[in-house]
Order: sequence, then structure tokens, then C-alpha cells
Amino acid sequence: MLFAFEAQATPKNIIIMITDGCGDNCFKAATLYQYGEYEGQIYDLFPIKLHSSSNLAVSVSGQNRHALVPPYATEKVWSDFKYVMDRLPCSAACATQMATGIKTYYGAVGVDLDTNNLENINEFAVKKGKSTGVVTTVNWSDGTPAGFSAHWPTRKNLEAVSKSMLCDSKLNVIIGCGHPFYDNNGRHRNIPNYTRVGSERIWNDFTHNRPTIDGKPVSDIDGDGKPDAWTFLESKDDFVKLITMPNPPKRVIGTVQVAATLQLSRDLPDEENEAFKQAILTLPEENTDSLLATVTQTLPSLDTLALGALNVLKQNPNGFLVMIEGGAVDWGAHDNFKGRMLAEQISFNRAVETVVRWIETNSSWDETMLVVTSDHETGYITAPNQAEDISTWHELPYTKKGEMPKLQFNSTHHTCSLVPLYAKGSGSECFNIFADETDTRYGRYIQNTEIAQLIFMLWR
Ligand SMILES: [Zn+2]
Repeated sequence: MLFAFEAQATPKNIIIMITDGCGDNCFKAATLYQYGEYEGQIYDLFPIKLHSSSNLAVSVSGQNRHALVPPYATEKVWSDFKYVMDRLPCSAACATQMATGIKTYYGAVGVDLDTNNLENINEFAVKKGKSTGVVTTVNWSDGTPAGFSAHWPTRKNLEAVSKSMLCDSKLNVIIGCGHPFYDNNGRHRNIPNYTRVGSERIWNDFTHNRPTIDGKPVSDIDGDGKPDAWTFLESKDDFVKLITMPNPPKRVIGTVQVAATLQLSRDLPDEENEAFKQAILTLPEENTDSLLATVTQTLPSLDTLALGALNVLKQNPNGFLVMIEGGAVDWGAHDNFKGRMLAEQISFNRAVETVVRWIETNSSWDETMLVVTSDHETGYITAPNQAEDISTWHELPYTKKGEMPKLQFNSTHHTCSLVPLYAKGSGSECFNIFADETDTRYGRYIQNTEIAQLIFMLWR
């Protein structure tokens, strides 16, 4: 086994794409809508198709808020309908697990059970001379980007998390939402809200590209002993230009001109299917960009943000590591808004296609590994009436392309259900070595900590 591993190629670049809160049935529902089939996405053709467990060391539930969590137990999942609802993971902890290889507790950001800082794969990549970045469709201080780059005992302290990302990390790219001067519809507002970026002082310092943020110097990333200040970007035009800029800035902090997220929190008609139809119908046929860009006209899409980040990161001849997140499937699932949730997942799927095209044009599968997965399931999505008949597991009913899939939400929170994991490119075969546990329904799976463990091994 070890011999086989050592014979593997080592990727120069690793791209991890995460759709937050998207379980197996959410992947399937979006694919049914897009293709009228259970499969049809570009990643359905990837050589590695496994599942991943979001199981935490310490979960949150009504009964065992602080108790250590036993591992995911496949026989209980498929015999006790409520089992997966009683062991709640969260995005920050799952991101920490995926980025550090260590199981931790609900709400943790880059720390272990004793709140000690854990080395993450971005920090490890920097040691290997690589560039690093995080990109998201929600605020850049949110759980997933934070878990991949920051260290703090709780995700709730956005001021501390923001400073950890901006001052302590050696990231080259941070891109997401959370703009204080724009509302959820991307409209300018006069009274700013600095919550998502941490504070007014933090905001003023990084938007003026200062080497010190709220009294703390930013990292020296090139080893010349001087802090390497961020370059601030905010308009759609800024992000579009970044894609083709010949000499992009060394460090980019992008804060898109919208409050919470690119599209999910926009005002649309209350009836969810109507909102979904509007979102889809405003997408011109010829536009392969993500739907949110065409809906709002003023905001960049995840595709655009990802391509801009890749242009910055590819400048490094030693390669790079980047985490690209579609952050709002989770939010749609919490609200049990089927249409909006699916619109988010379709938009994520388009971003994956864009990244695949980027790899095939600007790099190759021989030098780049792409991982597509989720951090945890949200909404406990099943076929309709599954809850009334737990003796058999029902697939989502077949629906035609363009038809709203039939599904049932059984929760407004996260579950510990396994999530899909797809991978392709240099080194991706090694996931097979880690997939030594078997679920009776989904087959072989890894622990989400094994994503980091794999990367530490590949780049050791
Ligand atoms: Zn959530």
C-alpha cells in the first residue's frame, strides 16, 4: 500500500471546491433539474467518486452538547431515521477538519479540542513555496474560508477571525462578500454594517492597502522582512479585470459589493418556485456564466471570482492551493427553500465546469488535482414520505429536465449524513487508499480529515 502511494505523482496545484451544506440528495436534485438524470455533471465522470464523513469530535445536539461523538455508524443511519439529526456538524469545524486533518468541536476555527492552533494545508503549502487562497460566495470571514485559514476558538468572533485571516495568514487571495456599504440586493447603503469584515478599523486599514491592520502588521509573505500589504478589490469590473491581468497583485482582498452573499439573500417573490423560475429565466441561453451574475447584473459570479483568484495564484512557478466555496446552498436548505437552494447548487456546478475548463486550458490533469465535495448535509433532504416509511430507502422520484424535483426537507439544520466527494487529476487516486470504511448505502467513504491527510502526504 505504502509502495503504491509512493509511486504516485505529486500535484503541483490543488483546487478544492466545496458546496456548503449540500448532501447526496441535493446534488441529485440539482442534476435532475439540469439534465433529467441522476448523473450528468462534469464531476460524475471523475475517476474518484466516494463519500466523506463530516463527523466531528464534539457535536452539538439537544442531548450531548459537550459529549465526545462516536464515529458515524452506518447500521444506525439506515435503521433509525432520526440518528443523523442528532449529531450536528458545522461549517467552521468541518473546514477545520478538512484543512488540518484533525477532528475538532462544533464552532472551532483552526483549533483542536484544547483550542490549540492546528497547522492547516494552506500554511503547509506556503512552507512548500506555494501560493494559497480562499474564495467564497458568502462573507469571506464565514466558517469555511475561516476554517481553511484562521485560528480562533469560536467562529462567532468575526473580528478575531478576520484579523487572523488578514494579519496572521500568508494567503495570497481572500475573496468573498460582506461589504459594509451594500445591502443584500447589492444596493449602496448610507449606514455601514462592519460586522462581517470585523470592524470599522479593520475595514479602513485593508481597503487602504495598509501594512498594519487594526494595530497588527500583516504577514511578510516573500521573506524580505517587511509586511506585504493587501490590494483591495470590490467592483464587478475589478474582478473581471483580475482574470486577465498580466501582472496581478501579489495579495488580493476582494470584498464584493453586497452584504451577505452573491444571490441567495436578494429579494425575490416569496413563493420559492417562482423565485427559482425568475432566477433561471433571467439567464440568457448563450450565457455560460453563473445565473446570479445575470440576475443582478452588478455582481460578479463565483466563476468570475474563481478565475480571478486562479490568475493571481498561477503566477507562482511552484504551484498553489485554493479553496473555492459555493457557500449558500446551506442557507437555502436551512430555510427549506427548494428553488433557491437548487439555484445555488446549479451556480456551483457551473463554477466547477469553469474550473475544469481552466485546468484543461491553463494547466493539465497531470499537474493539478481537483476535489469537489461538501462539508456537511443540510435540511435532511429525502424523497417525499421517506419519514413515514423508513423500512426502505427511496430515491428522489425521477423528474424531467427543467422540472422542479420532488423532495422533502426533514430538518432546518445540519445532519451528519455522508456527503459526495469527487476527485480528478494528479494524486487523486490516493483517495482510494483512505477510503477504507463502507456505508451500506453509499459504499466506500473517507473521513473529511483525510482530505488534509492526503494533501500532507502528497506534499510531504
Ligand atoms: Zn449551515
